[in-house]
Amino acid sequence: MNYFSTRDKSLKLNFKDIFLRGLAPGGGLFLPDEIKKYKSEDLKSLSKLNYTDLATEIIHNFCKDEIDRSDLNLLIKKSYENFKDSEVVRLKEIGSVNLLELYHGPTLAFKDIAMQIIGNMYDKLKVTQAKTVNIVVATSGDTGSAAIAALSDRKNINLFVLHPHNKISKIQRKIMTTIGGNNIYNIAIKGSFDDCQKIVKELFNEDDFRSKINMSGVNSINWARIICQIVYYFYSYFKLQKNNVNFSVPTGNFGDIYAGYVAKKMGLPINKLIVATNENDILQRVINTGEYKPDVVKPSITPSMDIQVASNFERLLFYIMDENDNSVISLMNDLSSKGSFNLKKDKVAKIKKDFEGVKITDKETHNIIYKVYKDHKFIIDPHTATGFGAANKLKNLNNIIVIGTAHPFKFNDTIKKVIGKNLETPSHLKIFMDKEEKFDIINNSKSEVKDYILNKTQ
Ligand SMILES: *Cc1c(COP(=O)(O)O)cnc(C)c1O
Repeated sequence: MNYFSTRDKSLKLNFKDIFLRGLAPGGGLFLPDEIKKYKSEDLKSLSKLNYTDLATEIIHNFCKDEIDRSDLNLLIKKSYENFKDSEVVRLKEIGSVNLLELYHGPTLAFKDIAMQIIGNMYDKLKVTQAKTVNIVVATSGDTGSAAIAALSDRKNINLFVLHPHNKISKIQRKIMTTIGGNNIYNIAIKGSFDDCQKIVKELFNEDDFRSKINMSGVNSINWARIICQIVYYFYSYFKLQKNNVNFSVPTGNFGDIYAGYVAKKMGLPINKLIVATNENDILQRVINTGEYKPDVVKPSITPSMDIQVASNFERLLFYIMDENDNSVISLMNDLSSKGSFNLKKDKVAKIKKDFEGVKITDKETHNIIYKVYKDHKFIIDPHTATGFGAANKLKNLNNIIVIGTAHPFKFNDTIKKVIGKNLETPSHLKIFMDKEEKFDIINNSKSEVKDYILNKTQ
């Protein structure tokens, strides 16, 4: 199987190449040249598998030339050993919706599900044998901690995590800055998540720098993350045993929900994928109007979704623009020269066939957390609450699975404000509340970040 770029269809790279690089040359994103389509009898046999065996079947489609099936199965089992649940994820009925809890990994957010596998893939693909790999990643709070939990103390790997200074929750920062070993560097950038992501993307496009430090990436633009996330769409669909299932997904960088789109492409009969955004609602706007126009980032009580440049959306655009790389380039050129692009009516209709977009304000999020607690004695985190809110607003859809993206403990300050009490620290969380935090504060400047990395890797 080969991979190409959304901006260059002639590119031919293998899984190992794209795993290491993350971002395609020229700024595009990688896509596979074939996506397996399951027939209904295939789906029937997949539905009988446990989580790790299902994950093996699905993920293997995308890396079959590099990792053999039984090795992959072992790797996946090992990756999920430290999850609270042997089935990795849990589906629960909360009133009229179904909640898919994805937050029982070591850092309490769904990012663990992909990141634990990715950590083991670095070893499996033998990419660190010859030379130390330096991984640089931007985070809105949860990718960073998940990456640190997966990569801490691994041989021949350094990890540099850029987070927006003072713009993530206290617990998110605590986890990130206390659990890492000596190969972990936390950098607080004086800017937004979009600024962090921009610096990382630019560094990837500097060939000299990239090769000098043997740079790799684990951001949500890395295809390996998407393929690990496809699994739970299948798993929860099978568990629910209903037809015409819809998924409501708290969305920032369009990674998680894009995995749902790939699941649909693979033959899972999903009805609608619901994009739930906070007030940083660029995705809601593009789905409903066709205009993709980044605004300034507004800090919210759902910091992991405080994103205006939803990178993975480009992967959807590629299919919406009839798999034409030049059309994608032209939209991206509009975006950088005019600050926005506009999709024609027929393209918007094409998106609307698979997606709905709903904005949930902070006030609504507050009310949802309170109402779910009052009605069901169940506490959801603010991000997950946006998924509930979006599901509630779409009255004509039934059989909705809300993707639970984080454990409420991670956003304890907000939860305390809404329900008036503190949450207990979950037993499986590796957190050291009293341990000294390790991070450096740097200006929003690519060259300062470069100097920092060079200094640590010399
Ligand atoms: C990362 C994250 C999101 C957004 O996921 P994307 O894949 O970036 O759309 C939502 N909620 C939480 C808690 C997250 O950590």
